[in-house]
Amino acid sequence: MDLAKAPHVLTWELTRACGLKCRHCRANAIPRRNPRELTLAEVEAVLDDLSTRFEIPPLMVFTGGDPVERPDLREILKASVARKLHTAVSPSVTPLLTRKVLAEWKEIGVKTVSISIDGPSAAVHDGFRRMDGTFVASLERARDVTELGMNLQVNTSVCGDTVAGMPSMGELVKELKVSSWEVFFVVPTGRGRALPKITTEDTEATLKWLALYSKTVDFRVTAIAAPQFRRLLLQNVPGTKWPTIPAVREAQGFVFIDHLGEVYPSGYLPVSAGNVRHTPLTSLYRDSQLFRELRDPDLLRGRCGACEYKRICGGSRARAYAVTGDLQNEDPACPYIPEGWEERPTVVLPVHA
Ligand code: SF4
Repeated sequence: MDLAKAPHVLTWELTRACGLKCRHCRANAIPRRNPRELTLAEVEAVLDDLSTRFEIPPLMVFTGGDPVERPDLREILKASVARKLHTAVSPSVTPLLTRKVLAEWKEIGVKTVSISIDGPSAAVHDGFRRMDGTFVASLERARDVTELGMNLQVNTSVCGDTVAGMPSMGELVKELKVSSWEVFFVVPTGRGRALPKITTEDTEATLKWLALYSKTVDFRVTAIAAPQFRRLLLQNVPGTKWPTIPAVREAQGFVFIDHLGEVYPSGYLPVSAGNVRHTPLTSLYRDSQLFRELRDPDLLRGRCGACEYKRICGGSRARAYAVTGDLQNEDPACPYIPEGWEERPTVVLPVHA
């Protein structure tokens, strides 16, 4: 797999409309749809481009806001499945998401549905999502997904408010019979800027726990916005082999399209490479200066630039940008001191033009 040629995952924010007001929402989701959202015809044109010009097309994740807010979601999913794309949906759990809706997706050919559960109790999850009853409803919809025969992915956001519940979350996802568990280390963007931060020490301890946990279960466990998970695996799990490909991270195996067609290295990194209304996605991914530079480990600065793990990790570029304003700076959530590193102040250079 050559991550410079094609992304492994494409996450597509079909709309920013959403009935929830989650405390961490990177999209600052709002109740109503934007009339300038990409149309169904524009979505289909992008699907034509990526399904024919990427040698190995990406896993498609349709998200929001809440993608269920789009009345043409079924047509979009059919268009994706018709182009033989592995199609996943990441909906919000609101009264719009019923078992009947999930059954329709199964009928269309959707392979995976991801449900967000941020804590092992209603007190934690409903407080985070700012909607009473969401925890119970999320468990019901999660069970519906597996009963209907689709892959269930659970997404969990980790911040100062939720980190203590991680071991109990680990038990809950086992009970839910998930196919994968994605653990998002919140980047301070959108409404997430106001969340209680997780300390660097707690991030490191949680990633170490997650590395050991991942070897005790038979489903995929991934840390999002924390590529140093690979370092923690190598350091803590005996027998872990040095990876042969770089980490999937911003612009490197991952691409994000927003509701207006802007193409970003990640939903947490608000620097656009261009718009699919004017330039093919495949060209923006492969050839834009922004994406090419983000894939170049020799451009990394600070501790990430000096780190012996930089070619398989490289740190979260989204967090470096959110915290320091420099796309290539060290990831402030990683406490690792590279071999031979001499303590000196981090140089913060201007934001990418
Ligand atoms: S210093 Fe940077 S490259 Fe090294 S492990 Fe930490 S995040 Fe990864």
